[in-house]
Amino acid sequence: MQKKKIIVVGGGPSAMMAAIRAASSGQEVILLERKNSLGNKLLLSGKGRCNLTNAEELEQFLERFSKNGDFLRDAFKKFFNQELMRFFQERGLKLKIERQMRVFPVTDRSVSILNVLKKELDKAGVQVVCQSKVVDLIFENRLIKGVRLENGQDILGERIILATGGASYSFTGSDALGINLARKLGHKIEPLRAGLIPFIVKQDFIKKLEGLTLHNIKLKFSDDLTDIITDIGELLFTAFGISGPLVITASSKVVDLLFKSKKVYVEIDLKPGLSVELLDNRLLREFKVNAKKNLKNMLKNLMPLRLIPVFLQVVGIDPFKKCSQITQKDREGIIRFLKNFHLDISGARPIEEGMVTRGGVSLKDINPRTMESRVVKGLYFCGEMIDIDADTGGFNLQAAFSTGYLAGESAALS
Ligand SMILES: Cc1cc2nc3c(=O)[nH]c(=O)nc-3n(C[C@H](O)[C@H](O)[C@H](O)COP(=O)(O)OP(=O)(O)OC[C@H]3O[C@@H](n4cnc5c(N)ncnc54)[C@H](O)[C@@H]3O)c2cc1C
Repeated sequence: MQKKKIIVVGGGPSAMMAAIRAASSGQEVILLERKNSLGNKLLLSGKGRCNLTNAEELEQFLERFSKNGDFLRDAFKKFFNQELMRFFQERGLKLKIERQMRVFPVTDRSVSILNVLKKELDKAGVQVVCQSKVVDLIFENRLIKGVRLENGQDILGERIILATGGASYSFTGSDALGINLARKLGHKIEPLRAGLIPFIVKQDFIKKLEGLTLHNIKLKFSDDLTDIITDIGELLFTAFGISGPLVITASSKVVDLLFKSKKVYVEIDLKPGLSVELLDNRLLREFKVNAKKNLKNMLKNLMPLRLIPVFLQVVGIDPFKKCSQITQKDREGIIRFLKNFHLDISGARPIEEGMVTRGGVSLKDINPRTMESRVVKGLYFCGEMIDIDADTGGFNLQAAFSTGYLAGESAALS
């Protein structure tokens, strides 16, 4: 077979998988990474444990993509979660499935995943060159010819796979440079915005709650026209606003809501298991039993201690009022706080802090069967730089590995 040079730009999971797949088809492959080591974001993933995929069935898996999940059907047909797990297991790495079908290495260390990939790059004969920042793409008549490095050197190749990641955690090397190179070549870029991100809250009292976690609560984000209602789960207050699993999971939809609405707020239901009526009955009982106590002393039966000063500030009831003197109007205020604790959202944290980047190279400009550009021949895309993003749970890494596999195979066999 005649060898052709395939250049893979990037050293993240999508690039490594693309290079391994292309080289294992007998092609000469060079991988260029701007940092001095591979997989810097991969090492951070899953809090250093790497939630590398999810064991859900295909249809449920696709539902976890904020939109555009269907685009991945061809890539998943070629190389899905079972194939990815087998890839690592056959190379001696044991995996385990945790709650919500999240898959991790048994070692609980993302470096184990990276080590398998590095070994496989070596075995497949991929030439890995770190500290090689690609600053331009060379093309002629809509045909790709090569790449230009920051040091002025040109590397020519017949196929280029761009796998340069999104726009967050830029210290890991992904800062949207690759996306901008794609734009320069005429690809449409969907606006970049943060995914899987905490939110900033307007109310000043939020600072008093920093570090407090609320368990078994439910959230409703709203702009009065659209409601985003979460499951029951955990919320974490930060110095600037709200975070935690419920917030991060809902964040992509909330970011979209913030995109089109000026006024977005969240209501926290601290008692999702109780209707307003049942809660009122419970309050009546509590006030009767504690008739001689101050309201302030009774509140610890209803909410975490750290929330009480904020409650008193928001609801405005005299904390020293005797429980026997609490009126219906007071009870209505208490219920409003417990069922609809209102916070105004002033925005999301900056894209740099997103666990994933939303937007990127438009899917309209990529052939889903090959990952080849529809604008420039011989150019392929994979990983987070394309307009695909998902929930937490291993879905984003699977998308990176699957699109990388398909891009590598298509570039090698085309
Ligand atoms: C804190 C954190 C935790 C995460 N945890 C998980 C998790 O547990 N499970 C999950 O599924 N997802 C997780 N993600 C998301 C997941 O890590 C990414 O979606 C995934 O790494 C994307 O892979 P990629 O190969 O497309 O891009 P990246 O991993 O970002 O790799 C891109 C690479 O390209 C290089 N590069 C960029 N530009 C150039 C250039 N011009 N020239 C040469 N090289 C260049 C960069 O240096 C980088 O090494 C997490 C993300 C973060 C930030």
